[in-house]
Amino acid sequence: MKLATGTTLIHHGQLIDGTGAPPVPDAAVVVTDGIITYAGPAADAPPVPEGAARIDARGGTILPGLIEAHIHLTYFNVTELQDLDIKFPVEYVTLQSAVNAKTALECGYTAARSGGCLHNIDVWMKKAIEEDMIPGPRLSASGREICGAGGLMDWNPDYRKIGMEGIVFIVNGPEEARKAVRKLVKDGIEWVKTYPTGDAASPDINDHHTLCMTFDEMHAVVQTAHNHGLKVTGHCRATEGIRNALKAGYDAIEHGTFMDDECLELLLKRHVPMCPGLGFEKFSVDRGKEFGLSQQVIDGHQETLEAGAESCRRVLAAGGTMGLGGDYGFGWTPHGTYAQELTFFVDYVGFSVLDTIRCATLGGAKMMGREAEIGSVEPGKLADVLVVAGDVMRDISILEDRANLLAVMQGGVVKAGSLAGRGADTRSNENTKD
Ligand SMILES: [Zn+2]
Repeated sequence: MKLATGTTLIHHGQLIDGTGAPPVPDAAVVVTDGIITYAGPAADAPPVPEGAARIDARGGTILPGLIEAHIHLTYFNVTELQDLDIKFPVEYVTLQSAVNAKTALECGYTAARSGGCLHNIDVWMKKAIEEDMIPGPRLSASGREICGAGGLMDWNPDYRKIGMEGIVFIVNGPEEARKAVRKLVKDGIEWVKTYPTGDAASPDINDHHTLCMTFDEMHAVVQTAHNHGLKVTGHCRATEGIRNALKAGYDAIEHGTFMDDECLELLLKRHVPMCPGLGFEKFSVDRGKEFGLSQQVIDGHQETLEAGAESCRRVLAAGGTMGLGGDYGFGWTPHGTYAQELTFFVDYVGFSVLDTIRCATLGGAKMMGREAEIGSVEPGKLADVLVVAGDVMRDISILEDRANLLAVMQGGVVKAGSLAGRGADTRSNENTKD
């Protein structure tokens, strides 16, 4: 991804740097050739060259680009999982993914970690974004997922004779688990996404208390993936599924819903980050009826919502690492509504605004393994910066409305927001000068 050239000064705003530090009221951020070279009080800022571009934050907020820690670019606002593998061919899903990537960037998400994808679209989407062929968040690629036979993702009855190659490897035993990972190695992915447990979405046979993989299968996945330098994560709701994942050597936990003391201890000891993806539960409860979810499914989501919120509060209090985001791309959580996750964490889960932003920026960068480059507004990092009209400390929900974004910067280039396309990233634009 190309970096900006020259110097840009962002000023007249408060700075929330993403580390959890208190806001700096009258701040300045200096970007030189796409890299942040100063971030702090405007009074202490170094002088910038005569022709430097200037972005006036208009009394608003300067913060790191948001990071979606569990994105599904290939999900196209489906109402049931079954829609994913039978509705459209790979060609059309790829186009939809490109549109979703652009939407994510326009919403202020400058980076994203995939939580699983159809076919092998993430890998190529990542390449296209990195080469500036299409706009989108810097992507951490996942691939086709892995689930035990009869588990959550093995939903097609045998009589339909529908294969699942485009979405998930259905495995029976460690040998098949190894075989699936080896295919993913060749695909070029970074994250192997597995299904250690079921979900409220599938009551009776694969609910949130059901295991969908054996420990041996999970361990085989980890051994094979780590041998090839890949990381492993899993959809973990049931306590035993979380425990199995942590003991098998998983590199991250998705959801971590029913986290007991032993699991929490293991999570902290092994420094495993977690992406709760919890807003989905709340929005399923609130909007499920209008999308035809059964009362049983809604009740299950209510149970995971409450347990998940408690897990998040415990992980936060214990100093664990969390990224925010998750499972946008369903009918009731459509692409473009990602930032409601932040409002939900403040209003429902009870996180402070600063903790929420830290998780949604630096936390996500840590989950991606890229915290040295992105995730906070600090000198030396890539200038992936958001400039927002309004006080995010007072009302975090202003992030939900794209109209409030003045600038969405990647590597110092203004890619979206109302100042995009007006040359705010060049030295020659009169509009952006004082
Ligand atoms: Zn997911």
